[in-house]
Amino acid sequence: MPDAMVAASRSEATRGSTTQPVDVAVVGAGFAGLHLLHRLRKAGFATVVLEEADDVGGTWYWNRYPGARCDIQSIDYSYSFDPELERAWKWSEKYATQPEILRYLGFVADRYDLRRDIRFGTRITAATWDQDAEHWRLTTNHGETVSCRTYIMATGCLSAPKPPEIDGVKDFKGEVYFTGRWPHQEVKFTGKRVAVIGTGSSGIQAIPLIAEQAAHLTVFQRTPSFALPAQNGVAPADRVALLEGDRASYREQARWSLTGVPYPQQTAVSWQLSDAERRERFDEAWAKGDLVYILTQLWADQGVDVDGNALLAELIREKIRATVKDPETAAALSPHDHPFGAKRPCLDSNYYATYNRSNVTLVNLRQEPITSITASGINTEKRRFDVDVIVFATGFDAMTGAIMAVHPITGRGGRSLSEVWADGPQTYLGLTVAGFLNLFMITGPGSPSVLSNMAVSIEQHVDWVVDRLIAMREAGFTTIEATETAQAGWARHMADCATLTLHRLANTWYTGANVPGKARGVMPYTGGVGPYRSICNEVVSHDMLGFKLSGPNVAEQCNDGEIVRLQPDVRLVLNMLADMKLPPLESFGAKGARDFLAEFNAARPAGRPVGEVVEGTLPGNDGPLPYLLYRPATPGPHPIVVYFHGGGWVLGDQQSDDPFCRDLCRRSGMIFVSVGYRHAPEHRFPTAAEDGYAATRWIAEHAAELGGRPGAVMVAGWSAGANIAAVTCQLARDRGGPQISGQLLVCPVTDCSFDRASYNDNATGYFLTRSLMYWFWDLYCSPADRTDPRVSPLRGKLEGLPQALVATCEFDPLRDEGVAYADALAAAGVPVEQLNARGHFHSSLTMVDVVITGVSGRVQMAEALRRFAGLAAENSQGYEDVRAGRTASPHQIASAAE
Ligand SMILES: Cc1cc2nc3c(=O)[nH]c(=O)nc-3n(C[C@H](O)[C@H](O)[C@H](O)COP(=O)(O)OP(=O)(O)OC[C@H]3O[C@@H](n4cnc5c(N)ncnc54)[C@H](O)[C@@H]3O)c2cc1C
Repeated sequence: MPDAMVAASRSEATRGSTTQPVDVAVVGAGFAGLHLLHRLRKAGFATVVLEEADDVGGTWYWNRYPGARCDIQSIDYSYSFDPELERAWKWSEKYATQPEILRYLGFVADRYDLRRDIRFGTRITAATWDQDAEHWRLTTNHGETVSCRTYIMATGCLSAPKPPEIDGVKDFKGEVYFTGRWPHQEVKFTGKRVAVIGTGSSGIQAIPLIAEQAAHLTVFQRTPSFALPAQNGVAPADRVALLEGDRASYREQARWSLTGVPYPQQTAVSWQLSDAERRERFDEAWAKGDLVYILTQLWADQGVDVDGNALLAELIREKIRATVKDPETAAALSPHDHPFGAKRPCLDSNYYATYNRSNVTLVNLRQEPITSITASGINTEKRRFDVDVIVFATGFDAMTGAIMAVHPITGRGGRSLSEVWADGPQTYLGLTVAGFLNLFMITGPGSPSVLSNMAVSIEQHVDWVVDRLIAMREAGFTTIEATETAQAGWARHMADCATLTLHRLANTWYTGANVPGKARGVMPYTGGVGPYRSICNEVVSHDMLGFKLSGPNVAEQCNDGEIVRLQPDVRLVLNMLADMKLPPLESFGAKGARDFLAEFNAARPAGRPVGEVVEGTLPGNDGPLPYLLYRPATPGPHPIVVYFHGGGWVLGDQQSDDPFCRDLCRRSGMIFVSVGYRHAPEHRFPTAAEDGYAATRWIAEHAAELGGRPGAVMVAGWSAGANIAAVTCQLARDRGGPQISGQLLVCPVTDCSFDRASYNDNATGYFLTRSLMYWFWDLYCSPADRTDPRVSPLRGKLEGLPQALVATCEFDPLRDEGVAYADALAAAGVPVEQLNARGHFHSSLTMVDVVITGVSGRVQMAEALRRFAGLAAENSQGYEDVRAGRTASPHQIASAAE
């Protein structure tokens, strides 16, 4: 039951006093706070909302600058919790203006009679958790204390404007405006000399309109943004038809999409499309004027691959050059220092064309930084600009600014949030912080927030929090707290997600780089709205995994652990496979399993181009064996790697690991010869091993003919192929050659024992199952032969073998036998490097362009191969080097992603 009701309006509040405790205090009356109040009230929680502004609206209350609009289409940037509300409101434009969005939020407040529980003009300045009372005490700027059991910060990701970093602002005698705190009365620029500092979203929206009025407008730009024309007007008919055709399904798709706007996942990759096809896709996107479309629908690799992204960035720069007449201005407006999408791209109306006006000047602060602001204007290192008005469009202390502005927030044991976040925000799910009981953040750092349609992300958070509060009340729990384990696990998962995208390669407000002294790191969750939602749901279905719950009359509950231990893309792949509800592979029989694999492989992204791919045959022990040779595009002769595919000695062929071979060929700059050895059950033990050895010997003897470097070769393989590679090394040592300079063993089968822990830990659910391995062994090798080192190389002599890289994956039944082999090699004096891929499954490292987080593993493999071959390591630096081609890396995403 509610603790008590509170004084509802500020006029009723008593200064310096403590009002009666409430169940929930919400800070902020924007999109989030309004929805929270509505849901909490309906659920019977006594709730008060505290808001610094004098009315509802949040972002849309404060940002009244000319041109302010949303940049997600209004039909998407709306509440969806009440179909009646949706029917009652119609947007007049594709991208509504600030006044219209503010009217909408006012309409929502009226419709649900929300204002009576909102105290306007009230800023929360500090918050303290009282452990004995199990209450938060919030201090207001009027000296009151608000006491609540649950404290929800709906304070906004972009609501703390960043103060100017320039000396002398106070000396300026003209008018000064901040886009994020715009006055309520109209600002007139007519006949005035105006300066706009900043060219992010707000600047780009405001500049064309200010230019139309001002006598002269000078724009001071530090970092150019990518902008595309909004093509505003009425909402596009196709999108409206989709929405109105089936509103519920449209909204549901939005909830499970990557960005909170229902668009399908793009599958075509840039290198599969011709220049003309890419241009056609780009022109279509440009004409649509839709950020989400251009960010997600052109080609699948645009957001994750430096090369795929660069193609798109260049097409945009082409548009800038075509629009802006002065080449020097066009060059200054063209971003080169970050991938498209890594910094928030903007929607504009006439932005670039504005620079063709005679009354507009662009000042490139990269060439002439501002030195000071004086009484009459702005000085740069080169010039002086006298102006009447300065508009700061310098952005926000994003994500954490408004939270940290409540200072201190003191949690359990007197620890303050600023201490805990000294090196950057730490959260569980972006919703809670360990040590801060009963505190929730809506769209906090660690959640999709600003990388999504925030209307969708806000609703998801509001529902999750309110549903938890209801469930706690029903179960008799009065406190909830994230555990340290869960929080640390979330930080790891966040970092894993961040390696998937290009956000790390830009200095932006997403990473805290716009605020001097702020800790750096990608703050929003980059794994996508739908995946994030499913994780939050899993936390609940796993009995509130990662939370400690307590109450006066119930036993404490703490289901500790990490909610995501898989790499994010591995999780997606495994979920997709689970959704397919495939029968066990072994149930197909050998032929059926081979056919299935061929079909499965046909659907994967094509491997990337290499210099040349040659088909051939080589003489095996009992007849010819086919092979595929992958040659790098660089001048040879190249060192040769003999490669054996995976497939449990039963499945696959010389083509089945094609993308992996291409990838390693490109990264290492070496020839890969993928050998089609014979399979069980037609050819049982030791055929595969003997074929592998015979092929290696022949390739080494014919290296020069194959265009390779004569002398030692290397061997490599994955899974059963790695078993053949390891066995080949032992046979080559014992049979007098060929000379092998290194072995790359990826998730190798090394032993016939099924007793190791990984066989149990990962017996099912990770594609390669224990029972599938039993089947493979049965088809290939009779029990009597299984301890033979030609199939269980761990049982052979290991001294004198070539140096090795042994890669294992955490969620692989074969993990522990791979580790055992690496340890045994090391004990036998063989130089060995171990790669233990955290969060990966048996196929991760070979699923090129599907499991993107496998890139770092393949980079390490390529480096090891180069070392084995006595070649120099390859180094790369930052994004600028990657873009400028200064890195020698044959595959740039790798170097960039690392
Ligand atoms: C110009 C602009 C355009 C945007 N366009 C889009 C868009 O098109 N699509 C999109 O998804 N997102 C957009 N955003 C992001 C936008 O912030 C969110 O979509 C959304 O409005 C956030 O709602 P909120 O309720 O979480 O926070 P806010 O709207 O920021 O509201 C937070 C409220 O909390 C109050 N507050 C903060 N601290 C305190 C305190 N200590 N005490 C009392 N009150 C406090 C603030 O005064 C504010 O009113 C835009 C942001 C800006 C600035």
